Amino acid sequence: MSKPLSDHDRKKQISVRGLAGVENVTELKQNFNRHLHFTLVKDRNVATRRDYYFALAHTVRDHLIGRWIRTQQHYYEKDPKRVYYISLEFYMGRTLQNTMVNLALENACDEATYQLGLDMEELQDMEEDAGLGNGGLGRLAACFLDSMASLGLAAYGYGIRYEFGIFNQKIVNGWQVEEADDWLRFGNPWEKARPEYMRPVHFYGRTEHHPDGVKLVDTQVVLALPYDTPIPGYRNNIVNTMRLWSAKAPCDFNLKDFNVGGYIQAVLDRNLAENISRVLYPNDNFFEGKELRLKQEYFVVSATLQDIIRRFKVSKFGSREIARTDFSKLPDKVAIQLNDTHPAMAIPELMRVLVDEEKLEWEKAWDICVRTCAYTNHTVLPEALERWPVDLFAHLLPRHLEIVYEINRRHLEVIAAKYPGDNGRLCRMSLIEEGGQKRINMAHLCIVGSHAVNGVAQIHSDILKATVLAVFQKTHFTQITLAEAENACYLLFLNLCEQRIGEDFIRDLDQLQSLRKYVNDEERFVDNKWALKTNSPSLRLNSSNSIPLTVPFMQAAPGYHTAKMIIRLITAIGEVVNNDPVIGDRLKVIFLENYRVTLAERAIPAADLSEQISTAGTEASGTGNMKFMLNGALTIGTMDGANVEMAEEAGEDNLFIFGMRVDDVDALDMKGYHAEAYYNRLPELKQAIDQIAGGFFSPKQPDLFKEIVNMMMHHDRFKVFADYEDYMKCQEKVNALYKNPKEWTKKVIYNIAGCGKFSSDRTITQYAREIWGMEPTLEKIPAPDDKI
Ligand SMILES: *Cc1c(COP(=O)(O)O)cnc(C)c1O
Repeated sequence: MSKPLSDHDRKKQISVRGLAGVENVTELKQNFNRHLHFTLVKDRNVATRRDYYFALAHTVRDHLIGRWIRTQQHYYEKDPKRVYYISLEFYMGRTLQNTMVNLALENACDEATYQLGLDMEELQDMEEDAGLGNGGLGRLAACFLDSMASLGLAAYGYGIRYEFGIFNQKIVNGWQVEEADDWLRFGNPWEKARPEYMRPVHFYGRTEHHPDGVKLVDTQVVLALPYDTPIPGYRNNIVNTMRLWSAKAPCDFNLKDFNVGGYIQAVLDRNLAENISRVLYPNDNFFEGKELRLKQEYFVVSATLQDIIRRFKVSKFGSREIARTDFSKLPDKVAIQLNDTHPAMAIPELMRVLVDEEKLEWEKAWDICVRTCAYTNHTVLPEALERWPVDLFAHLLPRHLEIVYEINRRHLEVIAAKYPGDNGRLCRMSLIEEGGQKRINMAHLCIVGSHAVNGVAQIHSDILKATVLAVFQKTHFTQITLAEAENACYLLFLNLCEQRIGEDFIRDLDQLQSLRKYVNDEERFVDNKWALKTNSPSLRLNSSNSIPLTVPFMQAAPGYHTAKMIIRLITAIGEVVNNDPVIGDRLKVIFLENYRVTLAERAIPAADLSEQISTAGTEASGTGNMKFMLNGALTIGTMDGANVEMAEEAGEDNLFIFGMRVDDVDALDMKGYHAEAYYNRLPELKQAIDQIAGGFFSPKQPDLFKEIVNMMMHHDRFKVFADYEDYMKCQEKVNALYKNPKEWTKKVIYNIAGCGKFSSDRTITQYAREIWGMEPTLEKIPAPDDKI
């Protein structure tokens, strides 16, 4: 094996990092020094590494501003259809490097900082992750923003500017401990507050029905203060906007009387209103049903719709020439995409605006609403489905409850006419679940109120069609396999692929197909993989160290007891395995603490084997699976989520597929799953379970893991033991192949070559054409003169 390229060599070889022209470098240095002086108010004697990071961030940001303003002017002039991606999560990670890459400034900045005696990578490491998401759903939203800008779509991301993002995970004595993610503490150089565009959001109150319409009175107002973040496209000078709302109490908040005590208390109580944007709920795929969360959902929806409608009204097209806004044109100019049901309130809120404020007739408003909105379903797990208690709704959003009831009444009237006497069907299709506590089924609301519903992988869509959607007989149902492999940050095979097939594949991942030609030239792939591993300081790897590592990572929602116990079990197994003299250096178990975007970018390229082992039918898509695939890991996985399509694209022989298919799982459900049967039949499984139950991994607390064992033996919804035997056999195949690097690497090449489908540009193009009625322009707008 030849010596891996050094970091420095590698960088110089990557032309896509942009040219480090002398002029560029000189100007960057000047601007860097100017920002250090005027923006950071420091000189080089007292500046800290963080000050230097901020100076660099501001220097790079300057290159965005002209492009940002121009893009928005361009949209105003051309007035294209706009797409609004509303999401409770945008898991952005860091911004600096992505911006430099998209603006082709990376080499020039590297050179400029080098000449200033600084190390750019050290400065980049000072940036806090914007962790405004839990996992796949939020990371996807971030990738979509990137792709929409790269494809030249007039797109906006709308969400909440959480003051605290996903918690920082610490492992203390083997247990997960959560720390607040105070990511804004040192300021955020990428955002711009826009207090001039603040909007009121109304909560509580009561409705009054007058002859000329419905009035909502005695509400509590919270202001939504927008913060804009630029979203640059890849080398096309387009910069779109992500607008995140922050909650602000109005000046007269809680003003009751004029005595001093009342005044002080009123000021203190402003926190209550401002708590709305305080913290991201750390529940992935889990519905908790808290009032504060419902407030967050309505808060983002109400502020965003005010923005959308204002922009529509003042658009050239909208109606400035016409006396009254013609809302029948709204679906031609606006597409609203709901990222799961979290922003589902957009549907009744749009109805409220059109009917109560704009005085449209219900039927007309409903037609506009349905043609404007579209909904993406992200999961079929019942515990994730949002079902808000009617009581809570009635209190917090009384007018919206009336509207939801009216939507439901009309919806059920149509069904009843179509299927006379079929009461069972009416119950199954109702937006309101009766029996016990009355609840609003938000997925049903989205299905009824949208013109398009989509699932996120072929198998997930098939399951949806056979279950929820079969009931609704929804005509416009599409299937868009998700993808996000494209994001530049995850493209660490860049260097090699570029040398082989040119850099165009960055815009068009399908071009990776041509790598198949090099399937017998695997030596360089091996070298490159080593370079990636050694670039992963968080794993403490070096090239002389070839220990097989098991590196699990996970974050458990703070209230999710079983998940926390599983983390404790993993760390306990690590303690035993890592100190076992017989195992020695042949295996290590290292729990990767505080998994987040930045860590994923380092860890994923270092991996050889990607474990995607959900019980078939439970994982909607997965996106981590695609990232590993593109970065040169092989997959051991079940036929679930996007694994199915990965196998299709790379060839099933090039993945390690095992376990039950969805049909097998259904059949097992019919027959009845009995964990003890597997436990009694498989001695290895029995031994492992007995060791966990008997305190082998927790000698000081022998009973520590009894509850996990009890769960697995008696109420395991995921029926894990049913896949155990096949999984172990499959791992033996993995081991055998790993001993043959040539054959292993061939499979890796076929996997990378098959990644085209998993480009988020491909995904967004499909959304644009099939759902939004838009066509990617792929246009470049002229670069502004960046001289500042
Ligand atoms: C991609 C990604 C996820 C989602 O991973 P899945 O395997 O699809 O669940 C979660 N967190 C981070 C930081 C990611 O980058």
